[in-house]
Amino acid sequence: MRIDLHAHSNASDGTDSPAELVANAVAAGLDVVALTDHDTVAGYAEATAAVAGTGLTLVPGAELSCQVGGISMHLLAYLFDPTEPAFAAERELVRNDRFRRGRAIVERCRELGAPIDWEQVERIAGDGSVGRPHIASALVEAGVVASVSDAFTPEWLANGGRADVRKHETDPVLAVRLVRAAGGVPVFAHPGAVKRGQTVSDEVIADLAAAGLAGLEVDHTDHDDPTRARLRALAGELGLLVTGSSDYHGSRKTVRLGEHTTDPAVYEALVSQATGAAPVAG
Ligand code: AMP
Ligand code: ZN
Ligand code: FE
Ligand code: FE
Repeated sequence: MRIDLHAHSNASDGTDSPAELVANAVAAGLDVVALTDHDTVAGYAEATAAVAGTGLTLVPGAELSCQVGGISMHLLAYLFDPTEPAFAAERELVRNDRFRRGRAIVERCRELGAPIDWEQVERIAGDGSVGRPHIASALVEAGVVASVSDAFTPEWLANGGRADVRKHETDPVLAVRLVRAAGGVPVFAHPGAVKRGQTVSDEVIADLAAAGLAGLEVDHTDHDDPTRARLRALAGELGLLVTGSSDYHGSRKTVRLGEHTTDPAVYEALVSQATGAAPVAG
């Protein structure tokens, strides 16, 4: 069983359509893939239709933008009821603020001399939940930087960078509670990804565990080996499950589907905690 529980489609900042993501997951030899777009479930219908007859199992999910003590962090949520109103309202709040903030970032980029505009970002993002990676692609198109990852520097879009503007992000304890109340299972995404900015303390992770966090995403491309060992030990202390996933974004990042995977027993444990939705077996 090859299980990858973190992948983005063009419903947020990935480059594959949900159907292309499903096809690429099959081609990569995966048995299970989770669709975890940022703050949206807009890709569910297309992915669910695409999985029929493939033998692939789809885990509907999302990756929620959170913030605590000024530090941004991401919470993966699996198998929640997408129609549960309180959680749906919070996702909408974050998504809507992404537009205000996206325009503000484009404005900052222009003030800093980058010849990009909002129409270009809208074209790149399409119907997707708009984010900095779309603006990074605009900066690449304009020849300002050579690659999407080169846009995530203090000069441009990195957390606290010259052109970074913050968006509304949910308190993670509230987010954990919203996910659980919608029957879903919350897992802390890349908790030690220091290259993206400051990371939260072990005390915050303990608070999240007490609030109902199910697991930590330990095997992730942004974690070096010592970080993985430290997080694995912390998960053991706190009674949390340990997952591994690619965080695939299509051609917007270099990571491949299935580059990191989750143990089948851990996957079964996550599914058994979910009451909001079931995996879609294709
Ligand atoms: P946003 O959701 O608009 O705040 O943008 C955050 C997204 O930008 C993350 O989910 C990553 O996909 C991407 N990102 C953040 N930091 C980096 C980085 N250092 N290099 C490449 N992509 C990054
Ligand atoms: Zn992303
Ligand atoms: Fe993330
Ligand atoms: Fe992600």
